[in-house]
Amino acid sequence: MTYGFDTLQVHAGSRPDPATGARQTPIYQTTAYVFRDADHAAALFNLQEVGFIYSRLTNPTVAVLQERIAALEGGQGAICCSSGHAAQIMALFPLMGPGKNVVVSTRLYGGSITQFSQTIKRFGWEAKFVDIDDSDAVKAAIDDDTRAVFCETIANPGGHIADLKTLSGIADAAGLPLIVDNTSATPYLCRPIEHGATLVVHSMTKYLTGNGTVTGGCVVDSGTFDWSASDKFPSLSQPEPAYHGLKFHETFGPLAFTFHGIAIGLRDLGMTLNPQAAHYTLMGIETLSLRMERHVANAKTVAAWLEKDDRVDYVTYAGLESSPYYDRIGQICPKGAGGLFTFALKGGYEACVKLVDAVEVFSHVANLGDTRSLIIHSASTTHRQLSPEQQKAAGAAPELVRLSIGIEDPADLIADLDQALTKACG
Ligand code: PLP
Repeated sequence: MTYGFDTLQVHAGSRPDPATGARQTPIYQTTAYVFRDADHAAALFNLQEVGFIYSRLTNPTVAVLQERIAALEGGQGAICCSSGHAAQIMALFPLMGPGKNVVVSTRLYGGSITQFSQTIKRFGWEAKFVDIDDSDAVKAAIDDDTRAVFCETIANPGGHIADLKTLSGIADAAGLPLIVDNTSATPYLCRPIEHGATLVVHSMTKYLTGNGTVTGGCVVDSGTFDWSASDKFPSLSQPEPAYHGLKFHETFGPLAFTFHGIAIGLRDLGMTLNPQAAHYTLMGIETLSLRMERHVANAKTVAAWLEKDDRVDYVTYAGLESSPYYDRIGQICPKGAGGLFTFALKGGYEACVKLVDAVEVFSHVANLGDTRSLIIHSASTTHRQLSPEQQKAAGAAPELVRLSIGIEDPADLIADLDQALTKACG
């Protein structure tokens, strides 16, 4: 039987606890699991049997969350880890190697731009940044050493909507996986795998948990990529010395990436999600669709009000008819353009800084996807490490303020912005 999204967000992956009948998924706060006997232990360590060994690799609470997110995204498997940034490294790790590169959208969360442009260089990996709306530029950036293409569905902060069908077509033709950061859209608004994505990454810190309590991430595998079709992905297609020459793709088929992520990625990189965090995220996901509907409705109302205000130069919300991405919303995110957008103040940088100091209902924080409405001036905070050109390309120019619209009464959000704009702009 196939269930709808609202049923899956409550039930997928969980069943009453076999030991106690507990209806809610217990927090299995344990490091290790007693083996039945020596043969059982050996089979687990050889990956001949699936089970729990040690919580750096697998944990029953985390396993429920993995199954639930995989079901919501329409993937074969998922690997949860300690943050969204950890998920990005976990997604790239089996694909990349020294001298290899990933073709990356210029429109990304500022921390991701820094991770890709600076930190991954220390592994000998390179990121090639391109305007992903320019198909020729994406194709031209791909070379023999490219191992993936990476973008965000709804880009943070600018709200740009990626043309996933076109991008997955380009990646496919080059024999490469498309990795999509679906943090801002969530699987309720967009399921990138249905548009051809191979891997989906999330910062669960945001809408999936939904109330600003957890740092977590996950990688979802579509299970559809043929890792053995070329010699580009030896970690998945070639013998693995640490497991007696086992070939992950040959042995695990559509679960190859997931098993590799757990058996090698979590084992050796150790970016593990703890069971308490998994519990909070499971609680959040139970109401994901309800919250996203309210986030979208409120964002539309607030964006439309801002667009008409004299103190505002322009608003970047893709859910407004004035947005160049309005047409794409119907194809990529038919239930709405999310709760995240930016707006430009005619008063520029100075007015933006005053505005974030003047709000009362909005919280001035470096986060998004909370039930609470949040505000930040990206150019002086999350994107301050970037050059002015990178800031502009990322949708974080100095005159822009980013809002993450919460689920409060929209009239209160508008009243708060109105009084803060009066203080900031006169
Ligand atoms: N991806 C996006 C779109 C984000 O907004 C963020 C954080 O803001 C991340 C990834 C990184 O996630 P985390 O902070 O959980 O590491």
